[in-house]
Amino acid sequence: VPDSADAVLEGLDPEQRAVATALHGPVCVLAGAGTGKTRAITHRIAYGVRAGMLQPASVLAVTFTNRAAGEMRGRLRQLGAAGVQARTFHSAALRQLQYFWPKAVGGGMPRIVDRKIQLVADAAAACRIRLDRNELRDAAAEIEWSKVTRTVPADYAAAAAKSGREAPRDPAEIAQIYATYEDLKRERAVIDFEDVLLLTVGILQDRHDIAEQVRSQYQHFVVDEYQDVSPLQQRLLELWLGERDNLCVVGDASQTIYSFTGATPDHLLDFRLRHPGATVVKLVRDYRSTPQVVHLANGLLSQARGRAADHRLELVSQRAPGPEPRYTEYSDEPAEAEGAARRIRDLIASGVPASEIAVLFRTNSQSETYEQALADAGVPYQLRGAERFFDRPEVRKAGAALRAAARFGGNDTLLEDTVDLPSQVRAVLSGEGWTGEPPAGSGAVRERWESLAALVNLAQDFAAAKPDATLGDLVAELDERANAQHAPTVQGVTLASLHSAKGLEWDVVFLVGVAEGMMPITYAKTDEQVEEERRLLYVGVTRAREQLSVSWALSRSPGSRPNRRPSRFLNGLRPGSTAMAGRTGTSGSGGVEPGAAGGRPGELEDGGTVTAPRRTSRTPARCRVCGRTLRDAGDMKLMRCEDCPSDMDEGLYERL
Ligand code: ATP
Ligand code: MG
Repeated sequence: VPDSADAVLEGLDPEQRAVATALHGPVCVLAGAGTGKTRAITHRIAYGVRAGMLQPASVLAVTFTNRAAGEMRGRLRQLGAAGVQARTFHSAALRQLQYFWPKAVGGGMPRIVDRKIQLVADAAAACRIRLDRNELRDAAAEIEWSKVTRTVPADYAAAAAKSGREAPRDPAEIAQIYATYEDLKRERAVIDFEDVLLLTVGILQDRHDIAEQVRSQYQHFVVDEYQDVSPLQQRLLELWLGERDNLCVVGDASQTIYSFTGATPDHLLDFRLRHPGATVVKLVRDYRSTPQVVHLANGLLSQARGRAADHRLELVSQRAPGPEPRYTEYSDEPAEAEGAARRIRDLIASGVPASEIAVLFRTNSQSETYEQALADAGVPYQLRGAERFFDRPEVRKAGAALRAAARFGGNDTLLEDTVDLPSQVRAVLSGEGWTGEPPAGSGAVRERWESLAALVNLAQDFAAAKPDATLGDLVAELDERANAQHAPTVQGVTLASLHSAKGLEWDVVFLVGVAEGMMPITYAKTDEQVEEERRLLYVGVTRAREQLSVSWALSRSPGSRPNRRPSRFLNGLRPGSTAMAGRTGTSGSGGVEPGAAGGRPGELEDGGTVTAPRRTSRTPARCRVCGRTLRDAGDMKLMRCEDCPSDMDEGLYERL
């Protein structure tokens, strides 16, 4: 614990100190990743408390996740400033709602609905609209979005069209379900998660006495990750403040990655308009990452377009130089995952703690390949913010159907047209409603489809490795994988989606699947959506302290024709690529790409999924190093002869 208030300021640079000591009036910190925004606001609170200028109980610090709130409370305690409220918008609102409900409404607060999907299902049924489970989840997401953007049912269709949302159904149907859902909640006397904020806002708006009571408790407000605040959260913040302006917000418009849930960086970027007297501080010293990582982050943003990009600041690394980022091109996805797992195993063997390593990907459907590769390599891991692949309901259900088909398959007409194993799997899954074509949009329907596509891919790879395998063998393999991946982990490598990596940092970061179709993802269509994908990559890059590895695969599965190319976002940044002057369009990267085995990458595959039938005759695979025809299956996986000396990681581009 620092021995004085001034000691709390040690370890801050002059700009961070300015943030920490400007305890009155509005303060806005606009700064890039790793510049110490979170640190500056934590020290600001601690400094104010230690200097006797802030009462701990009068400060409300708002963070983006409960975990971040917990970390901030812990840090404040270490700085000698216990007792400060650090919460998410939700948990702060919930406490207030519980406390004031008896006075504002009377009686006890309604229960928060625990099976919201059921309520959406009931609403859909009441409207005589049939939705499957995943369409229901997407409808629920649309209702959530409407509520956080303060859109009423009557305005849903227009608002959704305006913000380019792809509703799972006819927008008029969603609006109808939304209205009915609200009625049902009232009838059943339950509220949902968004109501916690909406009702708090309503009470603070209507009841001046209560608003005054809240305002007399909280005098100072601090908000982290302000670029991702929703209109509803912003409204709540304004009501908490009232006429006062003791508010300090920090954010990075270039890290806006939650637009699809209604977040907008406008509040951050317009802060000075709303608060004309605001102290605006810009931080550019990056304390997290090496100059090499920072160089790449700056390069990514230099190609960005749009409002957030207009406000970007060039970061300057404060750290000693480290290794260059590695760019690795693999022949296929399993090879990419194995490559990462191999390197992770070596890093751990060389003394890097597993907890200091992360593998970050764009969609959770990518996790299975990495879960398996790490399990195979004996590396412990934990998955952040998602269910492990084999725990996902659709995967379990599909597994049960495959098991049943393996047992009774002989009598099943589906499995009689003696087809190959992947076709059998597709047939069984199509019995479960799965189609070979990806659904439009990006919601739960798409996620479920991706998980099942990953299962078909797995079957394909399994059949390629074991041409005589039966459906029964595949089911046994799935069981084995599920068991291997369930090994309990202590402090493992982190597997996480880019979205759930926000605000965090690791010594070593593997950004995987950085190929067109994944980054940007196929369903990012408008320029704004593509820009948000670029920001997502920027968030990923800036999670690394020391070592960054960026990789992609030229095809999905071993032996198939290379038909992918590296992400357009890396053009001009990775060795061997050509810059695209000022282009953000959505129609492919152009530029001269290093040739893949078998020629230039052709048309793009659809988001890492199988759409083409398996080809029977293949052009022979050739070693990427010496050019000899490959015969051994293991060599084909590596796309080089076992005895060709160098790993694909090293100096690939020099050789090509
Ligand atoms: P993000 O945008 O990713 O949320 P941030 O701006 O909030 O990043 P922090 O997480 O606060 O950045 O800081 C990044 C890292 O740099 C942390 O490890 C932090 O301890 C360290 N750091 C920040 N400021 C300083 C400083 N003045 N001296 C030394 N280390 C610092
Ligand atoms: Mg932060």
